[in-house]
Amino acid sequence: MRLEKMPSEFQEALPILEKIKAAGFEAYFVGGSVRDALLDRPIHDVDIASSSYPEETKAIFDRTVDIGIEHGTVLVLENGQEYEITTFRTEDVYVDYRRPSSVSFVRSLEEDLKRRDFTVNAFALNEKGEIVDLFHGLEDLENKVLRAVGLPHERFNEDALRIMRGFRFQASLGFELEEATSDAMKECAPLLEKISVERTFIEFDKLLLSPYWRQGVEAMLSSGAYHYLPEMKDRKEAIERLFDIELEYTFSTSEQAWAALVLALEIQDIPKFFKKWKTSREFAKTVEQIVEILKLREKGSLDKRACYKYEKRLLLLAEELREGYALSVDYLVIERVYDSLTIHDKHEVVVNGGMLIKEYGFQPGPALGEILTKIEYAIVDGELANEKEAIIAYIQQAKEEEK
Ligand code: ATP
Ligand code: MG
Repeated sequence: MRLEKMPSEFQEALPILEKIKAAGFEAYFVGGSVRDALLDRPIHDVDIASSSYPEETKAIFDRTVDIGIEHGTVLVLENGQEYEITTFRTEDVYVDYRRPSSVSFVRSLEEDLKRRDFTVNAFALNEKGEIVDLFHGLEDLENKVLRAVGLPHERFNEDALRIMRGFRFQASLGFELEEATSDAMKECAPLLEKISVERTFIEFDKLLLSPYWRQGVEAMLSSGAYHYLPEMKDRKEAIERLFDIELEYTFSTSEQAWAALVLALEIQDIPKFFKKWKTSREFAKTVEQIVEILKLREKGSLDKRACYKYEKRLLLLAEELREGYALSVDYLVIERVYDSLTIHDKHEVVVNGGMLIKEYGFQPGPALGEILTKIEYAIVDGELANEKEAIIAYIQQAKEEEK
């Protein structure tokens, strides 16, 4: 089969294939970009596979970066773009279900395609637009079927992350799992426990952000795979609360999606939950804040203090999630209250501790901290202008009152 029209991303990258070929090697576009081109979906990162070994690839191009030589990947910089060129390889022996015990570079495209996870991810596309389809992937694309390349059981045993990837592609493509693939995912699900949490997180996160995320979550539930993910064991009913969200709703950021998950699971200690998932502390914090905003919002409109405490982006993300729960929304009120704030951060207060000590004879200590906080909130509440004179007068008055 031939691709009717090569998307511009591939056309731009054609000189790369041609250079590799001119040096006497084979080169193809591979992976998700070929699948997406065939589905007429937008393409991101164009990946290239070639029969040249990393050192040989580096010799062909002027500007390269070693980004994963041990896996056979060289980054090539050409006409302002970056392309990952990976040597054809096989991953034959897996010992701990986590990662290939060794990567062998090979000269055969077929060997390389055989080690790929699903038939629809195992195409190669040459410079003429011809599709190499060794595993009837085109038929699966047509039928919207996700099928493991080769023997499913073997493939999930080699790398259990493929089980998560299966759910993720279901969610992004809206495809159904082929029966033997689905059975093998179910049987091999316990192996997910051995996969690094970071890798699992990436796939789960992509799943949640996909248009058919419900389908992906449903598959995770019916396969029993959730039992082997952090903090999800035996939580089927809780996870199902995600389905209370409106049918059409899609999450707009990771933090928002994970906030919905945390709410469904009724997680109390959010930082601890994300420690198990090994995310950054900042990510955990952001999710926690979205959850806090939602809880505040349950009590009514957000006031100045609430709008001051959180970033506008998070206030709006939380409001958007309310749409998912079919709750009332009022973006305008949030915008208005937020924009009416005279300060958005305490560093914007024109007076600071150092100044009060130096110019007004204040003593360093907790009392100073208290008065600064009082000033900050008086400004936020609109009771005090953010002007030096007004603030000093305010302090003096507060002192008088104390006497
Ligand atoms: P996306 O569009 O989300 O980037 P993708 O299909 O390109 O999806 P990647 O994770 O970028 O997925 O991987 C690129 C390709 O590498 C896949 O299409 C697949 O052929 C192969 N691949 C990636 N991870 C695995 C894996 N764990 N086992 C087998 N093949 C894999
Ligand atoms: Mg990709």
